[in-house]
Amino acid sequence: MAQYQPITEPIRRKIEHELGSECIVTDLKALEIYNRDASELVHSPELVIRPQTVDQIQQLLRLANEHRFPVTPRGAGTGLAGGCLPLLGGVVLSLEAMNRIRCIDSQNLVADVEPGVITKTLRDAVREKGLFYPPDPAGLDKSTIGGNAATNAGGPACVKYGTTKDYVLGLQAVLPDGSLIHTGTKTRKGVVGYDLTHLLIGSEGTLGVITGLTLKLIPHPRAVSGLAAVFEDLQTATHAVTAVMSRGHLPSAIEFMDCRCLTLVGELLPFSIPGQNAALLIVETDGAPDSIRAEIEAIGRICREVGASRILPAPQAEDRDALWHVRRQISLRIHDTSVLYIPEDVAVPLNRIAELVEALPEFEARYNFKIYTFGHAGDGNIHLNITATSRNDLDLVEAGVRAILARVLQMEGTISGEHGVGEAKMRFLPMELSPQSVRLQQSIKRLFDPNLILNPGKIFPDLTPD
Ligand SMILES: Cc1cc2nc3c(=O)[nH]c(=O)nc-3n(C[C@H](O)[C@H](O)[C@H](O)COP(=O)(O)OP(=O)(O)OC[C@H]3O[C@@H](n4cnc5c(N)ncnc54)[C@H](O)[C@@H]3O)c2cc1C
Repeated sequence: MAQYQPITEPIRRKIEHELGSECIVTDLKALEIYNRDASELVHSPELVIRPQTVDQIQQLLRLANEHRFPVTPRGAGTGLAGGCLPLLGGVVLSLEAMNRIRCIDSQNLVADVEPGVITKTLRDAVREKGLFYPPDPAGLDKSTIGGNAATNAGGPACVKYGTTKDYVLGLQAVLPDGSLIHTGTKTRKGVVGYDLTHLLIGSEGTLGVITGLTLKLIPHPRAVSGLAAVFEDLQTATHAVTAVMSRGHLPSAIEFMDCRCLTLVGELLPFSIPGQNAALLIVETDGAPDSIRAEIEAIGRICREVGASRILPAPQAEDRDALWHVRRQISLRIHDTSVLYIPEDVAVPLNRIAELVEALPEFEARYNFKIYTFGHAGDGNIHLNITATSRNDLDLVEAGVRAILARVLQMEGTISGEHGVGEAKMRFLPMELSPQSVRLQQSIKRLFDPNLILNPGKIFPDLTPD
């Protein structure tokens, strides 16, 4: 483990002198928000810096190397893995004030943005020009584009359009030694040298601070339609997902939620819940108006054939907004109603979703927890929201989480489809990655950051400096 210096008064004064006092956050109330994200973890920073310029970030990282203090980049703090928390103390580097959309180029279908731009703000701004930025993580009204890139965020639209990495053409980033790098291109193709853009994407703020992004845009779909399909049990709903996808349909979203989730938001539902095992699919299609009308009808027919007890068409934006509101409320309410809440986001191959879902009651009974299940069904990305009514049996819960992850890996799945490793999943990493893979990745980290000053203690346990 590397040794770090605390931020002493002389170091703090030096930071203030080099960067300017305006970027140091001193408001105590404001400071409180920087010790948390959307996970259950808490770590307090010694200092919070909110820079306005790339130059200030470069200066900060040079000082961090000189004095050996940790720096942890932060977007909006909506991450679910503790990635933006200062595990080993030091400085939290908040990118939220670098939030300009520098340019939306309608001719070349690219946008140039700073990292602190809120995801929804960008989506709305490009929409006004008839363009579409598809990545839509469910926390998009708060999360930042920089945070999305650092976690390679995906959302409901991922099933058709892919994740954030599919829309980042190039990056500007400050490396841990304070130097500035530009990666990638402004063109849609480019294969010169190693792909550093995609090495930085998903690196959870451990290899560089993203200070600018060149994003790919596409024409906005001309129309959207949708439906909600109610099933008597979750297994049938997951069979419907495979049936829809394997019969030639590519919805722009196909999300599911189980009965426990539905019960939490009962008063918001436009239907009564049919029985104790009921489940809901929300499906959307987008494209040319005539073709999507036909497609959503065909998807509705497949859902009925497989066993849906009710289809609720959602042709109008208001109908779909109401359904997405339900979907978003669920995670908030699970969080608010549970004493212990562990958000796992495994992914399995599509044809194994039903198998995993069927196995969950066995884990619940054995390990004494309750799982609320919803997720991006079209990607096999299942959010297992593991909850317990007390924190007394933490060891048992931990054993249960480990057992579920082991089952997911047996099914050729992954322990995290989108939330990343951060601190929360670090101890499970060796379950999925081979020792060779871990060694190689640790060497990459050391190459970028020999003094381990950038977001240290994350992803790889036991990493030591050169
Ligand atoms: C209600 C809710 C729903 C969610 N739904 C989804 C979903 O559908 N799909 C999904 O993928 N995620 C989802 N998330 C998780 C979260 O929104 C994403 O991980 C998001 O990308 C984090 O963005 P942020 O700006 O909040 O980053 P933060 O939480 O601040 O940071 C996340 C990580 O990125 C790093 N980082 C942030 N900014 C930078 C930067 N400029 N340079 C380098 N590193 C940086 C941090 O160090 C940290 O490791 C959800 C979260 C919530 C609370």
